[in-house]
Parts: sequence; C-alpha cells; structure tokens
Amino acid sequence: MEFGKLLIGGEWRDATSGKTYTTINPANEEVSAHVAEAGTEDVDLAVKAARAAFPKWSAAHPAERARLLWKMADLLDAQADEVARLETLNTGKTWFDSRKVEIPMAAHVLRYFAGLATKVHGATIPTHERAFTFTLKEPVGVVAAIVPWNFPLLLATWKLGPALAAGCTVVAKPASLTPLSLLALGRIALEAGLPPGVLNIIPGPGGSAGMALATHPMVDKVAFTGSTEVGRQIARACGESFKRVSLELGGKSPNLVLADADLDAAVQGALTGIFYNKGEVCAAGSRLFVERSVQDAFLDKLVTSVARYKVGDPMDKATRMGPVISKGQLDSVLRYVEKGKAEGARLVAGGERLNVGGGKGFYVAPTIFAHATNHMSIAREEIFGPVLTTIACENLEDGLAQANDTCYGLAAAVWTRDVSKALRAARTLKAGTIWVNTYNLYDPALPFGGFKESGLGRELGVDSIAGYLETKSVWVNLDR
Ligand code: NAD
Repeated sequence: MEFGKLLIGGEWRDATSGKTYTTINPANEEVSAHVAEAGTEDVDLAVKAARAAFPKWSAAHPAERARLLWKMADLLDAQADEVARLETLNTGKTWFDSRKVEIPMAAHVLRYFAGLATKVHGATIPTHERAFTFTLKEPVGVVAAIVPWNFPLLLATWKLGPALAAGCTVVAKPASLTPLSLLALGRIALEAGLPPGVLNIIPGPGGSAGMALATHPMVDKVAFTGSTEVGRQIARACGESFKRVSLELGGKSPNLVLADADLDAAVQGALTGIFYNKGEVCAAGSRLFVERSVQDAFLDKLVTSVARYKVGDPMDKATRMGPVISKGQLDSVLRYVEKGKAEGARLVAGGERLNVGGGKGFYVAPTIFAHATNHMSIAREEIFGPVLTTIACENLEDGLAQANDTCYGLAAAVWTRDVSKALRAARTLKAGTIWVNTYNLYDPALPFGGFKESGLGRELGVDSIAGYLETKSVWVNLDR
C-alpha cells in the first residue's frame, strides 16, 4: 500500500511541500514506511474538502450513512490480517492484540454507530397552549479527530463512528509515529463508497499540523485523545473560539486488591491491567493497592507470574508483550525506573532494557515496584510503559482514599468477593470506568471517559453521539 500520500477530498495526494518522513518498526528499529507529512496548507485543503462535503453528507438519509459505516466494518474485517500486520509493525503491540482484539473491536465500534445513525431524533415538547414546540438534532459540522499512537485505529473509530453517523464530515490526524492503520482505513472508506471529502486523513506533526487543525476556523468540533498536557493546550485553543471539544486524556488508574479477593485471579488482572499493550494504555492499572494483610503473599504470586510473561517479537504468536513505541519512550520509562529506586521503592521485577532482537528494538522488562507510597512520582505521574507501582493499604476505606488521591480519574478496579464492598468502591471511586474482579474490558455500548484531569466528555455508548450534534429548539406560534 502507498503510504506516501494524504487522503484529501477523496484523492491520495502528495503533501503540498512534497515532504515525507519515515516511521520506525519498534521491534527492530528498521524503517517501516515513508509517509507524507501534512503541513498547514494541507490542513487547510483537508478542512475545506470536509466543509465542501458537509451539506450533502449531512442531508443524506441516515440509513445510507449507516450502510456505508457497516460496509467499512465488513471491509475492515475482510482485510483484518493486513491491517493488524500494519498495526503491529507500527506500534510494537502483539499480533494477537492487533488481530484478535483491536481490529475486530474497531469493526464492532463502526457497526455500533451504524446502528445509531438511524436513531437520532429530536422531541416534541409540550409547552405553551398556543404553541407547537419541538427540537431538531443537527450534525455539528466539520470534526477534527486527533488520535494518539497507542491504539491508532481503534481510538480513531471511537470518533469517526459517531461523527459520520451523526452526519459530520471529518479530518483525522493520526500521531506521526503511527499513521499506517488509519491510512488503511482511508483506503477502505473509499472502497466502501464513502463520498469524497467525508473522511480526510492527514498524518503530520502535532505541534504544527495538529494545532493548525485544532484552531482552523472552519472546524466546528475537536475530538482529541492524547496526553493531559496537549489536551490542556487544545482546550485553551478551543476556548478562544468556543469550538466544541471532547478530551480523552491521561490516567494513573488504581487497581485495588482486598484481602478477601480471589488472589490468583487478581494477580492475572493486575498483570493484564498494567502490561497489556506494554502499559501504553490510558486506563492502565499502574497503581496497585493491596490490603496489607495479604500483601506479601500477593507480591510473591505476582513476581512468580511475571517471570513467565514472555517479552519478544510482537509478530511471534507466543509473545505476551512487545517493545515500547520509540526510543524516546524507552528512555522515559527507564528514567522513571531510576526515579522509583531513588525515591525508595523496592524494585522486585524488571527495571531494565531487554536484549531480544540482537540488541535492536525498544524492549523493556515488565517492571514491578513494591513498598512504594502514593506520594512518589512513580505513583503520581503517568509513565505510559510497563511499570507497576505497588502500594499497601490498610482496608477498603484507606484503599479508596489513596486511590482517589490523584489528579486523574479515567478508570479503577476493585478485587473482592464481598458484594457490598465492591458496590461501595464503585460508588466512591472517582473514575469514568470501574471494573469489579476484572480489568481492561471495553464495549462500544459502554461510555468511556475521564473524571478530573483525565478528560472532558464521554466516548462510546448511546449518548456519545450527542457530542457530534447541536440541539435546536423550534417554537411555532399557533395563533398566526
Ligand atoms: P500526545 O498528546 O503527544 O499526542 C496525541 C495526538 O495529538 C497526536 O496525534 C499528536 O500528533 C497530536 N498533538 C501533539 N501536540 C499537539 C498540539 N500542540 N496540537 C494539536 N495536536 C497535537 O499523546 P500521545 O503521546 O500520542 O499518546 C499518549 C497519551 O494519550 C497518554 O497520556 C495517554 O494516557 C493518552 N491517551 C488517552 C486515552 C483516553 O481515552 N483517555 C486513550 C489513549 C491514550
């Protein structure tokens, strides 16, 4: 497939500057693709193409929009082997995670929103005796979808699905590191027959192309997923012009194991919670609170299990964890390991770069710190890598208080056999998703998003389409 082009107005075109850049396979540090690099001129062209396509697309019968979304999902399923290969090549996530979990889930998300396209409607609302009053729901307009590198295709569908179903047109900007699967979805969209300009895809640097897109006067809504730091800049920029904005940001999610839990299941949950996708998960269970009375037994089991966690070539079917995304991320993770040691936490597993592919590739051993406190930087800052920080708690109340003592609020979990403790935790934890006796499960029907500095708004679920709609009240005077 040709990656050296941008998708603008239904055509694959070179960047106006002619610039391309290379993406690197994190498993072996080799060049994986040459990609066109959008500049501000290309952002302008893409937004204008989306604006030009908006009147017709927003007026299309919702069933037609549903049909096209469904067709994209079918084509994605049919091409899942190839798209999963690209996703793994680009991100270092395991082939299993790409092929068996995330690409099928992306298709599932598109189908969920295909189903919603025909269910958008206003309401008649009785008010005054001599009036007929009702609401209309109208698509918000041109949507800028800005996505991060950890789930390049899946998180794009969380935005494209509701936007296209609602009748919006989209300019999508993948993270520079990981544009390949989204470009593949662009090809699929054209194959499905999506009209030109309805979906435009422009890889490019965040600071220039991303900001130009987020501030473009013809963009009506910005749907952003990424770091809290960049989210703050986007929120500020959108505040200036009152653009609609939704933000899915960072996290430092607590995973709370109580003494009465099924400890073997909790060990597996703790491992998946932090090591799925090498910890490059916004909702990663990176702070593990364990009730002190079972702490030693639990840590023993955890350390024994992690020793069996196979790190290696992500294309190898036996691999559980691939390399982190980049050299920059590798260095950042290792810096946090040093900080954790300096702050006095006890390193009980991992903590170093691994030599997997003859010294090439950004592999980090699954890392566990024990006997940390909730005040250490490894407990407060998002590391976004395979590093688990384990902290003791005295009981449920203490665990909940420590769990909530964070600026983030994306997800949380509790492990217990006591239903009233589980439900008390679910009510008390300040986070957008609470798991009980499990971790890292998602469904397109369940809303996802953050409390506090983890974001603004919710994606997925029936209500998420409201973020792509304006509501208009109509008052008809019955006296004239
Ligand atoms: P990032 O904030 O660096 O980049 C995200 C996207 O924004 C990329 O496409 C990037 O090119 C673009 N961007 C960067 N600077 C920009 C700017 N000034 N203006 C406009 N766009 C800009 O994030 P990342 O490193 O790609 O991803 C990791 C972060 O994303 C983590 O903090 C993680 O928690 C978060 N995340 C959140 C969720 C969620 O649903 N809450 C999901 C996945 C990742």
